[in-house]
Amino acid sequence: MRFRSTRSAPGTGTSVGIADALEAGLAPDGGLFVPESFPELERGKAPLAMGEAGRAVLEPFFRDEPVLAQELPGLCERAFDFPVPVRPVDSGTGILELFHGPTAAFKDVGARFLAECVSALARSRQGGPRDSRPRVVLVATSGDTGGAVAAAFFGKPAVEVVILYPKGKISPLQEAQLTAWGGNVRAYAVRGDFDDCQRLVKEALADPEWRASFGLLSANSISLGRILPQCVYYAMASVNAFAETGEETGFIVPSGNLGNATAALWAKRMGFPIGKVVLACNANRAVLDYLATGRWQPRPTVSTLANAMDVGNPSNMERLRDLFPTVEALRAGVEVFSVTDEEIRETIRSAARAGLGVFCPHTATGLFTREKLGRKAGPGGHWLIAATAHPGKFRSVVEPLVGQELALPPSLERFARVAEGGIVRAELEPELSALRRRMG
Ligand SMILES: *Cc1c(COP(=O)(O)O)cnc(C)c1O
Repeated sequence: MRFRSTRSAPGTGTSVGIADALEAGLAPDGGLFVPESFPELERGKAPLAMGEAGRAVLEPFFRDEPVLAQELPGLCERAFDFPVPVRPVDSGTGILELFHGPTAAFKDVGARFLAECVSALARSRQGGPRDSRPRVVLVATSGDTGGAVAAAFFGKPAVEVVILYPKGKISPLQEAQLTAWGGNVRAYAVRGDFDDCQRLVKEALADPEWRASFGLLSANSISLGRILPQCVYYAMASVNAFAETGEETGFIVPSGNLGNATAALWAKRMGFPIGKVVLACNANRAVLDYLATGRWQPRPTVSTLANAMDVGNPSNMERLRDLFPTVEALRAGVEVFSVTDEEIRETIRSAARAGLGVFCPHTATGLFTREKLGRKAGPGGHWLIAATAHPGKFRSVVEPLVGQELALPPSLERFARVAEGGIVRAELEPELSALRRRMG
């Protein structure tokens, strides 16, 4: 399987193999990598577990890369080592719980798989003629992504992680999740904002001297190494549901940068029994406005309760428009809803009151969307809502709405204790030269 850029039409331009696509992050022309074609996969026999589903879904994409192809079964077992259960909420609707990983959000799936791939490639090169130094993964984070990446790469041989976050602009728990590692994970509090952090990462990645000295890699959300493994849970859940119902399952995906939605649509393109894919957005309406007007217009970001979805210019829109090149095709391919903060609050309240469970603000956009779809289409149909984070990660929002105390996800308790005990922070001026001195 080869991968091309979203900015060159199929059959034109150059294509690269999976290892180069993973290591480069962005295509040379600034586009995003997409598969040149989608394998038609056998729907397989349910019930599938994540590990087996991972091997089946990902094998065609990794087949031509000897190191990764050979290690794929082990990579999948290690990356997907937590459950992804479905919890029914009513006769036609289930919750696909993607938050049972180490940082209690679905980003663990992509980060862990990427870490396994990068580490396998780095190990295979050590001692070889190219690159005997460890690879350095450089990440800018506004909070959550850095934690998932740190947890995923911690202890991996031949790879180091350097995280840049804006000083004073993330919560103590988040800061603990970045700083409490040691070993191969370092984090710096940049005296600036998130944009400064992102600028430093981009400058470093664009600099040939940096790339050569540190074998720099990016772990941001446009990486194929994060999107491809997310196809696995859509494949698995749809196959398992088909075995039970004999029907296709629709998916409702709380969306911001559109990576998770891209994964659902790619899984559908591969032939898995997936019906509609519905995007639940918060008050950031760029995609909805595009469907309405036919003109793509990035918007300034609006802050909402579902803050991991606060994106005004979603990077993966480029992949969606590659799948559906015209606005008519996109209208036929996806449905999009925008959910306000007040609707998020009311959904969390009423779901708890009805005994359906306690949901995080992101997942609540999905539940609200399910309600709206039900009113539109009437009863019937099978839907799964992607639950993207554990509600205990958003206690200050959720607890007053549901009138009860929530437990922190067990995997995060250690970091809460670190946050209480005091964080040891290394600060950095927002200059590339300052970062350079720290890199040694
Ligand atoms: C990142 C994130 C999202 C949005 O996912 P995209 O792939 O960026 O659309 C939704 N919910 C949570 C909890 C997240 O962390």
